[in-house]
Amino acid sequence: MTAVNLPDPTSTDKPRTLAHRRAKGLRPGSLKPAKELCSECGLCDTHYVAYVRNACAFLNQQFETLETASHGRQRDLGDERELYFGVHREMFAARKTEPIEGAQWTGIVSTLACEMLGRGLVEGVVCVQNSKTDRFGPVPIVARTPEEVLAAKVNKPTLSPNLSVLEQIEQAGMKRVLAIGVGCQIQALRAVQHEIGLEKLYVLGLPCVDNVNRAGLQKFLETTSRSPETVVHYEFMQDFRVHFKHEDGSEELVPFFGLNTKELKDVFAPSCMSCFDYTNGLADLVVGYMGAPFQWQWIVVRNETGAEMLEVIRDCIETQPVSSSGDRKQAVQQSIPAYDMGVTLPMWAARLMGVFIERFGPKGLEYARFSIDSHFTRNYLYTKRNYPEKLEAHVPEFAKKIVSQYELPEK
Ligand code: FAD
Ligand code: SF4
Repeated sequence: MTAVNLPDPTSTDKPRTLAHRRAKGLRPGSLKPAKELCSECGLCDTHYVAYVRNACAFLNQQFETLETASHGRQRDLGDERELYFGVHREMFAARKTEPIEGAQWTGIVSTLACEMLGRGLVEGVVCVQNSKTDRFGPVPIVARTPEEVLAAKVNKPTLSPNLSVLEQIEQAGMKRVLAIGVGCQIQALRAVQHEIGLEKLYVLGLPCVDNVNRAGLQKFLETTSRSPETVVHYEFMQDFRVHFKHEDGSEELVPFFGLNTKELKDVFAPSCMSCFDYTNGLADLVVGYMGAPFQWQWIVVRNETGAEMLEVIRDCIETQPVSSSGDRKQAVQQSIPAYDMGVTLPMWAARLMGVFIERFGPKGLEYARFSIDSHFTRNYLYTKRNYPEKLEAHVPEFAKKIVSQYELPEK
């Protein structure tokens, strides 16, 4: 199928104010301008498709420009923390003193969104519920009540067209909105945010890596879990294991090193294999887990708006400083050819390796850097092999600097 209704796609790369009003979103199922690299962020489902050539994270990498627009400056590449985690003024570990049952972690994201609505700071929240027939089927909405926000708790671990609701915000005449999203969604949102007619946009970012389409998710569950149909929740945790939670409340742990790499190699979406925005560098506030101790969440406050958002939930969380231990470099270097060859250990060896790594491996921020290094080197090679003509412009400077610490195969 071909793309339709694109307003003069060959013209200028710059957004044209009001051009989107005459444009129409692309038909469901049509080929998007980023083609196989499309992450289904939802922008092209709306009349904001008019800005796609400028806004799409996979057509126009513009980190430096958008960092400056969002935070007033670019990240400092000479500062190791900023190089890895982006512009920030505060970073710590946190958890809710009263966790939300059924949330992905302790529910900091849902709590913040409910509080912002409750206090009248925003009129709507862009978030993603699940479909009635599929607990992992994403259904983006603009939530107007805490109940609607809570119905969006827990990850839908698939590509989700969150920006498909942008037109609803405009049509409802909303002026103050909170958007929750992963990096590719937030990059496109930042590029069009001044066209939505808002007085204030708050952006709550989730770190994200290795996402999949719905069919890919099914393959991952079937390849990895003992009971794919009863999984309600899963996470790649800081203890180097995938934690699956099942309908009956039981937990299943699978060591990373036991994953069927050969089978799973093609499961991740091409967009995620060529993404370098793991830590959601353009959000005001980021809530993940990757830099925190096991079972804690990880908070990164990037700018003044993020600090304002954090104040809203200060009373419901306990905190501790971030820490770091171990040395990731050798493990990352070894993982590069191992991934290429699709090495899979037998389960007993994987479990043994997991115990060893948990005890002596990288922790806290060093775990986060381990994960960033492993994914950036893999994604750099993927982009170089599959999209050599895009490599130079698509990989941001900070990612090039991170990747340059490692020896990569020539081809
Ligand atoms: P909850 O209160 O349960 O709220 C979850 C929120 O996530 C909801 O508001 C919902 O709207 C939103 N959401 C759910 N699915 C999606 C989706 N597909 N796209 C956009 N928004 C969605 N953190 C890390 O530190 N490292 C990672 O590698 C990592 N990978 C992630 C991959 C995906 C696909 C997603 C969605 C999140 C990932 N996170 C990662 C973030 C982490 O898993 C938690 O979502 C985060 O810590 C918030 O937990 P919570 O209990 O506060 O969220
Ligand atoms: Fe459009 Fe988003 Fe796909 Fe880019 S990633 S082509 S902006 S839907």
